[in-house]
Amino acid sequence: PTTKLPKVGTTIFTVMSQMAAEHNAINLSQGFPDFDGPKKLLDSVGHYIAQGANQYAPMTGMPVLREEIARKVAALYGTTVSAETEITVTSGATEALFAAISAVVQQGDEVIVFDPAYDSYEPAIELNGGIAVHLQLQPPGFHIDWQHLKDAITARTRMIIINTPHNPTGSILSAQDLEQLAELVRDTDILLLGDEVYEHIVFDGQKHHSLLGHSELYQRSFVVSSFGKTYHTTGWKIGYCVAPAILSAELRKVHQYLTFSTSTPMQLALADIMRDEPSHYHDLPDFYQRKRDLFNTLIKPSKFSFTPGEGTYFQLVDYSAISDMSDVAFCQWLIKEVGVAAIPVSVFCQAPPDMKLVRFCFAKDDATLKQAAERLIAI
Ligand code: PMP
Ligand code: GLN
Repeated sequence: PTTKLPKVGTTIFTVMSQMAAEHNAINLSQGFPDFDGPKKLLDSVGHYIAQGANQYAPMTGMPVLREEIARKVAALYGTTVSAETEITVTSGATEALFAAISAVVQQGDEVIVFDPAYDSYEPAIELNGGIAVHLQLQPPGFHIDWQHLKDAITARTRMIIINTPHNPTGSILSAQDLEQLAELVRDTDILLLGDEVYEHIVFDGQKHHSLLGHSELYQRSFVVSSFGKTYHTTGWKIGYCVAPAILSAELRKVHQYLTFSTSTPMQLALADIMRDEPSHYHDLPDFYQRKRDLFNTLIKPSKFSFTPGEGTYFQLVDYSAISDMSDVAFCQWLIKEVGVAAIPVSVFCQAPPDMKLVRFCFAKDDATLKQAAERLIAI
């Protein structure tokens, strides 16, 4: 049979988590916490289920949740967005990304992605007849080279996908970067897709610069976030997209036939915690910075070298002092021989540069991080 996605196999996150389970390795590969979200949030879902909030949510999301998202966007990024026309609740950021791409990418359109690129972008582009144009971010900093981007823009460029904080490298965009971006897209029809699922996980006193906070860029943007990252509930698969009304209307046409709507009791519980405890996301940078620093301190005596990430709950490490295996082979070896699972970085690149880097997820209990580090320093 013909296949629409000839290059696509099983996602690396599933492959590595499965392999970790088979070999009983500590799983620092797929990005998910091994601890629960706030107890109040979990209890609240049970409460809403018992109350009978068990039927379809409105297609665009529960109004109370959209209102809390609008309030947060105003408080953090200084932008007034309409809960009614500019916010859509989706089944995870994955759905929001897919819906945004499907809503606007047509046959032959070019979409620029920065490698290493999160693996759901390209299949979504290709299924819609688009062409992913890959620009490689260079180690060690993995920041965007704006001249490189300028050179890649053509008359067929429909969209640029901006992921900040960036998975898997942990790099972030600065306010100056957003200005460079604005200059490049001004007077074009290029749309932006901001994957900002780690918006609350930025370290060392730095700030997350959201497309939502840049009034000129926001006019051409879909901005996506995920409650899975913010509330340690990746299994709930609730996210959202904020976009100007005209773009949201197009996104909703796709969303309503992709999933129609997403889990009602969870949306209600998330609305409550957003309203009652904004401190949760204000505390998240410190919470994860402590984990990053703990993990990095623990693996310092190892042969891995690294620069602390600027954001996300991932740490890239260079293993060239340990092995000259490919990163995929190294990750397999690491699971089987060392008992720790990581994610190879080259799989997110169309033309990987010469680098020996793997990604560890430090969204784990301190005890898990300690146990993993003991194994890693023994190599
Ligand atoms: N984008 C990035 C960069 C991610 O890391 C992830 C998930 N880890 C997603 C999108 C998908 O988020 P969700 O689980 O809410 O679908
Ligand atoms: N985004 C998560 C990661 O980067 C994985 C999500 C998934 O498994 N699809 O590890």
